[in-house]
Amino acid sequence: MKISKELRVDPGQAVDLRAIDPDATPSAKKEDADKLLAEHVLEMDRLQYLLYAENKHALLIVLQGMDAAGKDGTIRHVMSGMNPQGVKVTSFKTPSAEEQDHDFLWRIHKAVPCKGEVGVFNRSHYEDVVVVRVHDLAPKDVWKARYEQINAFEKMLTDCGVTILKFFLHISKDEQLERLKARVTDPTRNWKLSPTDFAERKRWDDYTNAYEDALEKCSTSWAPWHIVPANKKWYRNLVISQVIVDTLRGFDMRYPPAACDLSTLKIE
Ligand code: AMP
Ligand code: MG
Repeated sequence: MKISKELRVDPGQAVDLRAIDPDATPSAKKEDADKLLAEHVLEMDRLQYLLYAENKHALLIVLQGMDAAGKDGTIRHVMSGMNPQGVKVTSFKTPSAEEQDHDFLWRIHKAVPCKGEVGVFNRSHYEDVVVVRVHDLAPKDVWKARYEQINAFEKMLTDCGVTILKFFLHISKDEQLERLKARVTDPTRNWKLSPTDFAERKRWDDYTNAYEDALEKCSTSWAPWHIVPANKKWYRNLVISQVIVDTLRGFDMRYPPAACDLSTLKIE
């Protein structure tokens, strides 16, 4: 399955989210999904161990999407095999007073993984061109300048050894409603419901427009966006894990040799 290329937004490519079916499951069959995901999770564990040992590359995984798009579920199901020692998940909420007094990338930069680590962003600097735009939280000229600032920031990170994978979890408005309803009716999900979820839903079209611009303007050769049809959770998990495994394999990593001459060691 060469899925990563199909889902990737090429630099300069126009993005029309309404034309992409969130129910689609290209190049995959549901009956194979559980077995393949288990294989990917195992492989990710092996490759992450090597990433940590080699200490040359950092991998940053950015997850964005509408409310209830499945960002938390992806982290739970896809990242489950990785050793917590080398993975750092950061969830970005409304910026604190201290964060608001800094440039918008300050809190982001602090959370970028170092060499040998995998970093997962549950929301990210893309909120600063999405929710900020939808809610007029900054003047237009301020958020408009951010696309270029983000591209330059991500280029700098890439030049310094951070590989960036960005996933937009694409669900339909109907699927969102079903998932939000479940947060009301299922006691194990009540805690996930935010009082603003249904109000935000009314701005679906504004969010869609804001996301289309972000995906279009910030899919670069160094930090591409992937648009993942995400109504089907099994498909979402399968393709994201596939892209991560492909990327880690592409690092062509080696275990470093021992730091001392093993032949002179006295093992006693
Ligand atoms: P959740 O992911 O459900 O815990 O919600 C986090 C909330 O924080 C969402 O409503 C986001 O839109 C909001 N948020 C995250 N980053 C920012 C930001 N830079 N500016 C404003 N709101 C943000
Ligand atoms: Mg929420």
